[in-house]
Amino acid sequence: MADWLDLGQDCLCYPPRAHFMMFDRTIRHCRHCGAPVARRLPDDGDTKLRAICTACHTVHYENPLNVVGTVPHWGDQVLLCKRNIEPRKGKWTLPAGFMELGESTSEGAARETTEEAGAQFIMEDLFTVMSVARVGQVHLYYRARLTSDVFDPGHETMEARLFKEDEIPWDELAFRTVKETLEHYFADRQAGHFSTHAFDIA
Ligand SMILES: [Zn+2]
Repeated sequence: MADWLDLGQDCLCYPPRAHFMMFDRTIRHCRHCGAPVARRLPDDGDTKLRAICTACHTVHYENPLNVVGTVPHWGDQVLLCKRNIEPRKGKWTLPAGFMELGESTSEGAARETTEEAGAQFIMEDLFTVMSVARVGQVHLYYRARLTSDVFDPGHETMEARLFKEDEIPWDELAFRTVKETLEHYFADRQAGHFSTHAFDIA
């Protein structure tokens, strides 16, 4: 298992110990009957160890989480939020967070943008899809066209403001997926054509 201390740049989990849970097991008791679970191979030919209830034999599957966000843009500027919460408090991020049950990826991205920046915007196309397998997450960013340059950030954000490319605080970004997404955004903008970028972050 990778050293979890190295994973902070990739991930929105806090505390970082969540990574141990991700790989070394969140589930200790059955969600149905409360009996202890054991790690073993299911009887159905599955080749991965699963958390299986020792009493009712329910198999509990653990799957990656989706992080959804936007690249809100205004002319040649992009909106970043200074985080007021851990992890990476005080660092700059694109608005993003964990997808909720019952919403689509774009709905989640829009919700996070409203919550974190209080921005007004029109959602555009999917821009980046990044698998961060080490931390069991998939990060998705949509482009979003701002319709106002006035923001009303929520409690998760100290400050929300627009940056030109040469003003971006590259060394003060909260997550590697934010940096990768911004790099692709400004490269595509320069090229005059936006496409969707899907790639893995090792
Ligand atoms: Zn059970």
